[in-house]
Amino acid sequence: MPFVKTPVIVRKIYPELIWHLPTQEKKIYLTFDDGPIPGVTSWVLEQLNKYNAKATFFCVGDNVSKHKDIYDLILTNGHSTGNHTHNHLNGWFTLNKTYLKI
Ligand SMILES: [Zn+2]
Repeated sequence: MPFVKTPVIVRKIYPELIWHLPTQEKKIYLTFDDGPIPGVTSWVLEQLNKYNAKATFFCVGDNVSKHKDIYDLILTNGHSTGNHTHNHLNGWFTLNKTYLKI
């Protein structure tokens, strides 16, 4: 898979986060948030299967309830899951004030 470097602007917005760790290991940890989403999650699973890669899916509970078949597919394909709230607003399109109030 191609290496995608995080844009400089994102690293400047969140300077307190760790963006680089020197290592000799060629290892990457893949995570996907907000699913399962029809079409999107299935496509991601297909891509991961092509490379025999495993990932962790941080799922939204409401989406799991709506798309249990896709959630089960994540697990039967040997991936891990984690909780990513029951339901949340889209952080990219919500004012911080509104987002933090809920
Ligand atoms: Zn999210």
